[in-house]
Amino acid sequence: MKLEVLTIGTELLLGHTVDTNAAELGRALAAAGAEIVRRTTVPDRPDVIRAAVAEALDRTGFVITTGGLGPTRDDMTKTVVAELLDKRLVLDERLLAAVVERFQRMGRPMPAINRTQAQVPEGAVVLPNPRGTAPGLWVEDGRGRVVVLLPGVPREMRGLLVEHVLPRLVERQGPDARRVVQSRTVRTTGVSESALAERVGDIEAEIAPLTLAYLPSVEGVDLRVTAWALEPAEAEQRIAAAVERLRIAADGHAYGTDNADLAAVVLETLRRGRHRLGVAESCTGGMIAERITAIPGASDTFIGGVVAYADVIKTAALKVPLETLEAHGAVSEETVRAMADGAQRLFSVDCTIAVTGIAGPGGGTPEKPVGTVWLAARVHTTTRAVKRVFPGDRDEIRRRAAQAGLDLLRRLVVEP
Ligand code: AMP
Ligand code: MG
Repeated sequence: MKLEVLTIGTELLLGHTVDTNAAELGRALAAAGAEIVRRTTVPDRPDVIRAAVAEALDRTGFVITTGGLGPTRDDMTKTVVAELLDKRLVLDERLLAAVVERFQRMGRPMPAINRTQAQVPEGAVVLPNPRGTAPGLWVEDGRGRVVVLLPGVPREMRGLLVEHVLPRLVERQGPDARRVVQSRTVRTTGVSESALAERVGDIEAEIAPLTLAYLPSVEGVDLRVTAWALEPAEAEQRIAAAVERLRIAADGHAYGTDNADLAAVVLETLRRGRHRLGVAESCTGGMIAERITAIPGASDTFIGGVVAYADVIKTAALKVPLETLEAHGAVSEETVRAMADGAQRLFSVDCTIAVTGIAGPGGGTPEKPVGTVWLAARVHTTTRAVKRVFPGDRDEIRRRAAQAGLDLLRRLVVEP
């Protein structure tokens, strides 16, 4: 089943409100076996809303809208859709009673403008909304085409979707309802999108009809495999096989699936080997420690960290030799190795991560441009150090550095 989503609200176009409804509809509808073929966002303007609904109906015959169902003048979705489908707005007495009662419960008389909320296009199915005053509406025209109107408030939208819209959709699909859209993500890090494409590119054709998407972020590149409209058992079997192939092709860069967090993966790996971790951070200022301590149960493995930002702390707390700093600079292989070593002694642990770099925007030089970061991981007596030059602004460089530090230790532990 194919349909379109239309999110309505000037605030969405201005970027004042993030369009979480569209994302949520995408996930929920896919899981229910409906395919969103297009998604549109329009401002609170009747002519534009009308054109968008009309075009979507012409293309797919089924559109779900969110927003513009409130009682104020800028909420006009219902009026526009009724007009477009050539339906009168009629007062629904039961709905009016419900709205009046809702205000009574709050100890207030109903403002006159809320009366409009009890008006519905003739013949529409009212989808009760216990979380707000505007109900959802399921409106069909004479040719079997459907417009579903949902409120913009995400909590109300979600409730109506789960309780009324998805069950009706599944029912409408009949025997096809057993077909699902299902996805799984292989999370990779430390490899660029193009380098990853070289490794896994050939698999894309071989896993058809499954599709493969590359989703880069500061944490790395996620590979998302999707099965469209297959029987659930077949979808699961094909996805499992594709994920396995991708993991192998991504080599050591793959660290988990779906919502896997690298810090949690590292912690679990260390826990299994009965390791204990300490960190020494300069440019990341504690971000690695923050990521680690965000994981429940970190205390059995993580001992502590030091933010060695100034050189004097690198020498005093981590015993980085002054000569090393003077000869090679704070952002150098020699310094980061000495930091990893010093943290091991300071915390009496077998594993450490150390990071020192230039997060910018100032401080770069031709030899060490902004984004230059030296990372080290140490396990027992082995230290592995790498230099990376990360793209992006200060925040992005720091987040990439924290992720890379975690990954360096993960790889040193699993592939010594
Ligand atoms: P409305 O139903 O248009 O009156 O929307 C009510 C409120 O819901 C707005 O003030 C927004 O804060 C929020 N909202 C509307 N549309 C969306 C959307 N697509 N995603 C997230 N929030 C939204
Ligand atoms: Mg609105």
